[in-house]
Amino acid sequence: MLCKFENCNNDSFKNSDYCILHLTLPNEKSLDFQEINELKNQELLKKKENGDFNFKGVRLFNIDFSREKFEDDLIFTGAIIKNDVLLQDTTIEGDVWFDNADVGGDVLLEGSNICGNASFYSARIGGHVIFDKTHVNRYAWFEKAYVGGEASFNKTEIGSSLSFKEAQIEGNTSFYDAKLAGDAWFDKADVKGDVFFDFVEVKGGLNFKNTKFKTNKSQEKACRKAKIVWEKIGNRTKADYYFYREMESKRKQKSSLHKYVELIVQYPFGYGVYPIRLLLSFFIVLLTFAFIYWILEGAFTPDAFTEKLRFSFLTMIIPAYGVIFSETGFQGVLNIVEACIGAFVWPTLMVTFARKYMR
Ligand SMILES: [Zn+2]
Repeated sequence: MLCKFENCNNDSFKNSDYCILHLTLPNEKSLDFQEINELKNQELLKKKENGDFNFKGVRLFNIDFSREKFEDDLIFTGAIIKNDVLLQDTTIEGDVWFDNADVGGDVLLEGSNICGNASFYSARIGGHVIFDKTHVNRYAWFEKAYVGGEASFNKTEIGSSLSFKEAQIEGNTSFYDAKLAGDAWFDKADVKGDVFFDFVEVKGGLNFKNTKFKTNKSQEKACRKAKIVWEKIGNRTKADYYFYREMESKRKQKSSLHKYVELIVQYPFGYGVYPIRLLLSFFIVLLTFAFIYWILEGAFTPDAFTEKLRFSFLTMIIPAYGVIFSETGFQGVLNIVEACIGAFVWPTLMVTFARKYMR
């Protein structure tokens, strides 16, 4: 009888539906575990010796192909590996595929040389993913992957782009001294640990659009690095976006009083990178004060309102005006408050516009 796994032409093992490689691994404590695991490893080596590196959907205890050489693609798509995957100092002349694979332990590829892509799309890795000093000639793809431990890419060289879009990383994310010839995407990823992007070289863009950082320190470090990368490329809109997020995370790390006082700088002022937001704040203050003056005066005519609007506008842009021409009492105090707000908002508005649109 043939193995029931899709496109597998091997004979099924004893009375089971699957061949030895696709057979579910028995419990480690059971009597036949040793025997089956041994047979699985023998079959794995036999297949490798025959130059067949297609291990789609295999179920193994662990994989150790360290210091080996593969002349073609190494495929473990949909495989279930109970323990670790060891591919240290391995040479792979094609791609490495672990899409939808489930690895209970670590995936260690330190010092390996991959001539094609490294694809771990939607893979689930219970332990660490270590790619330190690995050379990937093309893409490194970890979109929608789950990493239970650290994602370490220290001194890694990637010949094209890297993606961790919508991935989840439970441990630290480290790209210390790594080199990326393309872009790096962490969009919508869930980064739970600390991040290290020191000395990383990214030729393309570094993206953290809607990335969820568990700690503010990680958001600050990642967004600062992304800001520098985009400034270097000359994309000011993106650099501003990361500057805003860097400032936001810095604010959240301050003591409780500062944290809330600075909310004013973040939202209405937009850290000086969103002129439209600032313009909106300007008009809201202008209208609110004009409305209060109008109510206080008690003459509810459109003309009276226009007059208050004019007064409020002049107070905003020439703070001294309102204070000089104001009435005494409560309205006088309000004038001073508006003049103070105007003294900050109007110049900031001009500077922000100039910075954003003028050269
Ligand atoms: Zn099979």
